[in-house]
Amino acid sequence: MAGNSSDDCNANECVWRFKGNDAMSDAAAVTLRKLFFEMFKNGNLNSGKTILPSVTHSFKPSPQAEEAIVAAVRSGTANSYAPSPGTFNARRAVVDYLNGELPTKLSPEHVYITGGCNQAIEILMDSLSGNPAANILLPRPGYPHYDARAVYSHVEVRKYDLLPERDFEIDLNELEAIADENTVAMILINPNNPCGNVYSYDHLNKVAEMARKLGIMVISDEVYDHVVFGDRPFVPMGMFASIAPVITLGSISKGWVVPGWRIGWIAMNDSIGILKHTGVVQAIEDCLELTPQPSFILQEALRDILEKTPKEYFDKKNKAMRRNVEISCERLKDIPCLSCLKKPESCSYIWVKLDTSQLDDIKNDFDFCTKLVNEESLVLLPGVALGAKNWVRISIGTEESELEEIFERLKGFHARHAISKQAIEVNSHTINQKFVSVT
Ligand SMILES: *Cc1c(COP(=O)(O)O)cnc(C)c1O
Repeated sequence: MAGNSSDDCNANECVWRFKGNDAMSDAAAVTLRKLFFEMFKNGNLNSGKTILPSVTHSFKPSPQAEEAIVAAVRSGTANSYAPSPGTFNARRAVVDYLNGELPTKLSPEHVYITGGCNQAIEILMDSLSGNPAANILLPRPGYPHYDARAVYSHVEVRKYDLLPERDFEIDLNELEAIADENTVAMILINPNNPCGNVYSYDHLNKVAEMARKLGIMVISDEVYDHVVFGDRPFVPMGMFASIAPVITLGSISKGWVVPGWRIGWIAMNDSIGILKHTGVVQAIEDCLELTPQPSFILQEALRDILEKTPKEYFDKKNKAMRRNVEISCERLKDIPCLSCLKKPESCSYIWVKLDTSQLDDIKNDFDFCTKLVNEESLVLLPGVALGAKNWVRISIGTEESELEEIFERLKGFHARHAISKQAIEVNSHTINQKFVSVT
């Protein structure tokens, strides 16, 4: 009887003709999930504490958005396959969402619906990789899905820095210096994850001028456009599309706190028709033919999600974020190894510099975060994951009680690992405080 149990076939007798694709490992190695796995791998998680940040205490989606999904399911009109570029209704809804102040208005044929912003990134990388020598300019720190998909699509990555001392503006001189005739695009993340800044109109104008000078397009990742709580208003990059072509990426994941719903978009701000003439539009449309369409249910619900969620929903969430930033900055004063150079005015993180010289046995940001997971069951993102060594990203989009707990754990961790001099200072500070409260 033929069979392939280990008795019949051991490694010496059988030659299996297949093997896994190593290219996957190369690309996956730069993803966040892989890095989190590494952090948890050696963890014993025996602190007896629940893992923070928790999903249960993060901000909730709006009831109107949930209702929109229910209505789409019940309509019975969204059970078939959707058209590859997206349904007309969904594309129209995104157009109405984005058009606002744009000097050149979008129409539905300029918009494609994707499975979240991440799929939009994948489609773009695949569509831009025609020239085998192509390179793309990514921000440092940045969002690692760009790196992973560039590796996967064989697009060379070149990094430009965001300057902490200049509100995390782009170092445009450096950007110009690293570009060459094979550079096809630059990625702009605005509002910026992880730095939490929002770019000014003037800076974006300069970015557009630079892109024009270099002959490249700007891909503007605006997934956080509804999570802005500082004084500076968010300006869409599409405002500058008459200077250089702009491809805007967005989704409802962050603004509506529904990253699991997987719906996003690509919008071609191409007022001078360059993206069409260079075949980029065609490449994207062809690529969409090859990928599964996002859920018709979500596309059907999109207009109501975007339009019926009241302004108060976002105002309330942004107000809570403003409060969380204040609390975080206050609590960070007790944790001298972490410093915030600029208060965030967008997104849901605080991006802090780690000074390992204040700590006894911590080698770097990855070591810091790994030990923190082990000892405190607290998950922070090490800066290396985003290309910036010895920085750390703390998620602060949570309820106040949980935020306090996050900083308590950080404070305890710092006190245990601080170098002796620091330990003495922390102790005497605590003793003084006790003394003060007794007197
Ligand atoms: C979260 C995030 C994404 C991915 O968004 P999805 O819509 O959930 O795929 C893309 N870019 C940035 C900068 C992000 O923070």
